[in-house]
Amino acid sequence: MTTAQHTAEDLRHLAEQTGRELEDASALDILRWAVDTFGPRFCVTSSMEDAVVAHLASRVAPGVDVVFLDTGYHFPETIGTRDAVAAVMDVNVITLTPRQTVAEQDAEYGPKLHDRDPDLCCAMRKVKPLEEGLTAYDAWATGLRRDESPTRAGTPVVGWDAKRQKVKVSPIARWTQEDVETYVAEHGVLTNPLLMDGYASVGCAPCTRRVLEGEDARAGRWAGRSKTECGLHG
Ligand code: SF4
Repeated sequence: MTTAQHTAEDLRHLAEQTGRELEDASALDILRWAVDTFGPRFCVTSSMEDAVVAHLASRVAPGVDVVFLDTGYHFPETIGTRDAVAAVMDVNVITLTPRQTVAEQDAEYGPKLHDRDPDLCCAMRKVKPLEEGLTAYDAWATGLRRDESPTRAGTPVVGWDAKRQKVKVSPIARWTQEDVETYVAEHGVLTNPLLMDGYASVGCAPCTRRVLEGEDARAGRWAGRSKTECGLHG
C-alpha cells in the first residue's frame, strides 16, 4: 500500500481500526505492520533513554530512520547514547534541531526560559522541530508505555495523532518496565547511562531529576510543576 494518495481521514480510520486489531499483537508484529504499510514513510522517534524500539524496528526494517530531537539541553550521556546507536545499530539516525540555538533563544527570550515558561520552551525546542521533521512521514513510532504514568495509561498500540495528522505507533505500549529490562538484557540493547544513576525517564537536563522510591517513572520530569508532557504526546 502506498499512502501518498490516502487522505488524513483514511489514515485516521486505518489507525483506529488497526489499533483495535493489533491490541494483543507482539511489538515486532506491530512494527511489521507499520513497515509493510508505510515503507520509507515510517520512522521511529527516540529520546535516547534507551534504544529498545529502534532495536525492535531494525530487526523488521534494517536501516530504518530513527529520529532524535536535539533540544540543545540534553545531558552529555544522551548525546553519547545517540552517537553509540548511530555507530553500532543498523538504523539511520536523523537529528532534528530547533531553529534557534540555546544562546539565540536566551538572547531573544532571556536565560532559562525553561524555568519561566517551559511550555513555550518545549514548543520551540521540541514540538515545532518534530512537526517539521515528521512531514516526511505518514507514521511514527514511539516508546510510550502505559505503565509510565497515568497520562499514558490509555496509549493505543496504533492510534491517530490528530495534532500532526499522522499514524502513531506505540509497539511497546503494553510492556512493563520489567519487559523492557528483560529485552535490554537479552539483546544487549544500548541504554542511557543515566538509567543506572537514579533517573527513570531522561529528558532535558534542566527539567529532569532523579526519581524517588515509589514515584512513577516520569515523576522526575518537570518536578514541582503541573506540567507532565512536553507537547509531543499530549
Ligand atoms: Fe525546554 Fe525543559 Fe522543554 Fe527541554 S524539557 S525543551 S529545557 S522546557
